[in-house]
Amino acid sequence: MSADETMPPWADPFQEDRQPDGTVKVTVYTHPLRCPVCGNETFRERTTLLNTKGMAFFNLEWANKSAENFICARCGYIYWFLPR
Ligand SMILES: [Zn+2]
Repeated sequence: MSADETMPPWADPFQEDRQPDGTVKVTVYTHPLRCPVCGNETFRERTTLLNTKGMAFFNLEWANKSAENFICARCGYIYWFLPR
């Protein structure tokens, strides 16, 4: 039994296919993520905490969570995904 079979499909909408150069190809709810600016399909991944001083004015329930970022490996465009 693989990890994929034990994980419900809604647990992680982000499917990441890691490339040899350290970038990832990302699928979100089965839709391939593609940079809207340059059309590239490889991204660098990071998470950003939303409770820093600069973000404090976002006094919302997700303020203490972290956002998922996918940064286009070609042009640097940043996708932001907030946790549900
Ligand atoms: Zn791009």
